[in-house]
Amino acid sequence: MIILLVGSPGSGKGTQARFISERLAIPTISTGDMLRAECESETVLGLAAQSILAAGRLVDDELVNAMVVNRLSRPDCGDGFILDGYPRTIPQAFFLDSFVEERGLPSPRVIHLDVPMPVLISRLSSRWHCSTCHRTYNLLYQPPARKGRCDVDDAMLVQRNDDTEQVVRQRLESYHSLAGPLLDHYAGDRYHRIDGQCPPEDISRQIEEALRPVAAIPRGR
Ligand code: ADP
Repeated sequence: MIILLVGSPGSGKGTQARFISERLAIPTISTGDMLRAECESETVLGLAAQSILAAGRLVDDELVNAMVVNRLSRPDCGDGFILDGYPRTIPQAFFLDSFVEERGLPSPRVIHLDVPMPVLISRLSSRWHCSTCHRTYNLLYQPPARKGRCDVDDAMLVQRNDDTEQVVRQRLESYHSLAGPLLDHYAGDRYHRIDGQCPPEDISRQIEEALRPVAAIPRGR
């Protein structure tokens, strides 16, 4: 099964991607994580993408498409995969359509986590994560037990350098200007809108229900 997780920055895609990935035993491909890894390793792509990410703008479609195809061609994607943060633009969506068709893959299911703008700004600018295990915390709603330290491994918490308020606004604007056409592209039976303000466990349950007809997830597993 192919699942596209669509939602604004801060909508909770990462949390739900982890849940679906465990449940269905398929990998999550997050273009944001891949790009950040490229930046850290200072690859040619990473060096080209660094300033774009820092400003909250989008990396060129061609670069992202090539990176995604490369990743999807690996054997662990054979039983399906979750895409988090891709496609983000209409050309990326068309590119994915052709990829799916050429390889005879099933049509993607689209899970849209919908969250209103003011909630997103507050969530993102108070989001920190563990520098070692990458667990995410929200200083307002879900703070760690010890200030600045991860509950799991006591490592230092850090903030993504694009989670500052100014860059957050830029990322949200960029998302909202593209989201409408993208969601129109996927309108129909394969599209599921979920209220991203519900508690994470409720959202997971709703995703499970939405995917059940095709995913054959055993009840109460
Ligand atoms: P968020 O969804 O919170 O903005 P991501 O981790 O998905 O964060 O992405 C971080 C950054 O990586 C984006 O702001 C953008 O610069 C780049 N990026 C991620 N996915 C794509 C994509 N599909 N197309 C272009 N740029 C992307």
